[in-house]
Amino acid sequence: MRPFAYHRAETPDAAVKAAVYALDGETHAPPGAPVQFIAGGTTMLDLMKLDVMHPRTLIDISGISGGIEIGAGGLRLGALVRMGEAADHPIIRRNYPVIAQSLALAASQQLRNMASLGGNVLQRTRCAYFRDVSYAQCNKRRPGSGCAALQGMNRQHAVLGASEACIATYPGDFAQALIALDAEVEILGPRGTRRLAFAELHRAPGERPDVETVLAADELIAAFTVPAGPWTRRSLYLKVRDRQSYAFALASAAVALEIAGDGDGGAVREARIGLGGVATVPWRAREAEAALRGKALDEDSARAAAEAAFAGARGLEHNAFKIELGKRTLVRALLEATRMEVPA
Ligand code: SF4
Repeated sequence: MRPFAYHRAETPDAAVKAAVYALDGETHAPPGAPVQFIAGGTTMLDLMKLDVMHPRTLIDISGISGGIEIGAGGLRLGALVRMGEAADHPIIRRNYPVIAQSLALAASQQLRNMASLGGNVLQRTRCAYFRDVSYAQCNKRRPGSGCAALQGMNRQHAVLGASEACIATYPGDFAQALIALDAEVEILGPRGTRRLAFAELHRAPGERPDVETVLAADELIAAFTVPAGPWTRRSLYLKVRDRQSYAFALASAAVALEIAGDGDGGAVREARIGLGGVATVPWRAREAEAALRGKALDEDSARAAAEAAFAGARGLEHNAFKIELGKRTLVRALLEATRMEVPA
């Protein structure tokens, strides 16, 4: 690991000020920026040890308290809340099960006890060529160097949202729940606080896969807000992976439904769908949602929605199986959500 300066911030404002001071006119965008915030450190330290990331300054924000606020209007999750705390929260489990499940099915209990929600949504791809610096070609790690995965081992890679420059899969789970539920993200920076739709936080790879979000180098995620809606209780996260725990998704689906008659064969009033394991960014399947609206949810309508969700998918030598797997995952998630018992 290379040497770096360490600064511990006790408040969000102090963290931003420390970043501005450390950047001192540097203009790199995250995630390659020379100044990085660190909370749980469960991704950052790995990547520093692998020499994939080499910030010159780390600003430790792990001592800043997070918080969970639940009201009639929705849910506010501080970015420094630990994954495990949100996953185990009884009201989140009851009223927003897709959020609790997306967190509980990620990583291990030890990692969930360390990792923050903010860090979780910013975690970086598990593409082996990105994480192994002995490979020269990786546009995400070394812009302009090429993409070894295009002709290499691409079983884990994305079938939606890829570009000629990068086909890396976005690895998280929680982000799929956030995007499905129309969450917003609060961002703190030297120019104050700004809010944007969570769906606008991540950038598709395009020609610059090294620039993964719209965050500036001196900006910090402060919180996520999730609006209340009649669909949040009838929601779930289904994750399909090579083994039953401690593995990244091959395909996943976050679904939330509002059904007329509350599930008893009624028509779908609203469907919210996020897909994971198959796309380069947290993926909202709006075509699938539109295909379901007004229809009774059964095997046929769920399959039609899945076909719509993957209409633009493109498979390569090793990952083409994800197209059918992703469709089946979505069908199963929709049918399970239709049948689930929703607490009064
Ligand atoms: Fe790098 Fe993306 Fe290609 Fe992987 S898929 S080698 S992260 S450019």
